[in-house]
Amino acid sequence: MPPQKVLFIASEDEENLSVRYPAAALIKAGHSVEIAPFSVPNDTVRVLTQIKNFRPGLVAISMAFQCKAPAFFDLTRKIRAAGFSGHITVGGHFPTFEYRKILEAKMGIESVVRFEGEQALVELAEFLEGKRDLSSVSNLVYWVGSKIHENPTIDHFPDLNALPFPVRSDRPQVRLGENFATLVASRGCWHSACAYCCIGAFHARKKGQRHALRSVENIAKEIAWLYHKQGVRLFQFHDDNFLQEKEADNIVRLDGLMAALEHEKVDYDSTAFLIKARPDSITKEVATRLWKLGIVGVFLGVENATGTGLEALIRGSKLHHIDRAFELLHLHGIIVTYNLLIFHPDATLDEINENILFMKNHPMYPFDFGRAEVVAGSPLERQVMKEGLIRGSWPNWDYRIKDPLVDQMFRINLATFRRPEAGYSRLAHTLIALAYRAHVVQRLYPGKAAQQMDGDTRDLIVRSNMVVLDHILKMYALTARLVSKKDLDDLAGSIHTGCLAFIKEAEQITRRMDRLQMAEKKFRQAGVPGEVQISSFLRKLFRV
Ligand code: SF4
Repeated sequence: MPPQKVLFIASEDEENLSVRYPAAALIKAGHSVEIAPFSVPNDTVRVLTQIKNFRPGLVAISMAFQCKAPAFFDLTRKIRAAGFSGHITVGGHFPTFEYRKILEAKMGIESVVRFEGEQALVELAEFLEGKRDLSSVSNLVYWVGSKIHENPTIDHFPDLNALPFPVRSDRPQVRLGENFATLVASRGCWHSACAYCCIGAFHARKKGQRHALRSVENIAKEIAWLYHKQGVRLFQFHDDNFLQEKEADNIVRLDGLMAALEHEKVDYDSTAFLIKARPDSITKEVATRLWKLGIVGVFLGVENATGTGLEALIRGSKLHHIDRAFELLHLHGIIVTYNLLIFHPDATLDEINENILFMKNHPMYPFDFGRAEVVAGSPLERQVMKEGLIRGSWPNWDYRIKDPLVDQMFRINLATFRRPEAGYSRLAHTLIALAYRAHVVQRLYPGKAAQQMDGDTRDLIVRSNMVVLDHILKMYALTARLVSKKDLDDLAGSIHTGCLAFIKEAEQITRRMDRLQMAEKKFRQAGVPGEVQISSFLRKLFRV
């Protein structure tokens, strides 16, 4: 058989590295590859058309998010119903744990790739070429007659420096008004213990190490390619922990990365980075280096702002780490965004009070809040099963929170803040993006207009947070009594009105940022950077 045609199917709101790394490995091995984005069920027809035109021998589906699994199952059935007779395999966190249930559901999936996919998929393609036996494909689980067979798994990371760089689109993506790319500097997580985390569960299950790093030289080479060839100026590291556990290691790595970027002639004064980090990794020396490198935003793993909550979620960090991280990042002009998992099996009203107080005391920071959800293989899954709290059905489990009042509050949250049309989730995401963008603009185009937009963004976030907080308190008040449908509709309606007004304001600021970034780029090309922000005439003309 000739080299294989492989079609990857995955959510692709931005370049999805979980398929773009294995895609690069397959291309290196001589196969041809296409990627079919499947972010919402409406993408189904486009995916089916792509299969018809490309005629792959292997379809590889990335099911990273458990909550999206039913949509992918449905898609698989439709692919088979459309007559595709090639091999369909699935991989990702969720199938790594739930491979039996997935195969037993007999929906047309022939095999599951567990853990990392690069080597396994290249070997699976070799099997389809007739070059090896299926039993020699690493990490693969599949039917043999009426039995499910599990091949041995690789329990260590691949050499990350030896992997080909992920496949990129011909043209760079644009995010927050800039040419943009996502990348990873590592795989896994050195903590790998949080109760609700699929990444932690995934790497804790392997026998080998839980965290592997790319060398700074290797990272800098990829950044340099994106910077010089695609003009990328905004980079988002998708590592769940961009930083390591020990301060000394972070200092060496960040200094090394800056030196490697200089060696690659990447002017990191003209770039901006976004990262995710745990609060306990942010020390003074680290924050200074993050600022020097051009990190403008940190999605900080706060998760819960109480001692009991941090313990219940097995976060391994302390309240003083959170306070220190906020203070240091603020001092260095780096915006923090965060999420609070105020609902979890052991949450109490006292704990929720403390979390609300935390939101109130951090008015300048965009945030979201919610419940720790059950994912396959996680400590939370084991807890809710063992304690008989589990509700709903596989794969989208629900569970009961032990304190009935907190459980009631969570249900009210679902029926109000989380109504699809409520607009709250959209507002939270919009403000997080706007805050990042204000900092990107300030860094790349410093000047009066950029400063003004940053001030307006901050003002909007403070006002919006006050209104959101006010509605959280209303939701809290409802937990103390019998709630009618009218109560829920009134609260949801009020949230909806407030959110839409703030989203509208955010969109207006975004349009101003659009105009400023566009004008600045033009004036830079003409050799007069900043002119548009100095001249009041030009500011009026460009409406910035
Ligand atoms: S939540 Fe973050 S720190 Fe916790 S296990 Fe997951 S990746 Fe690691």
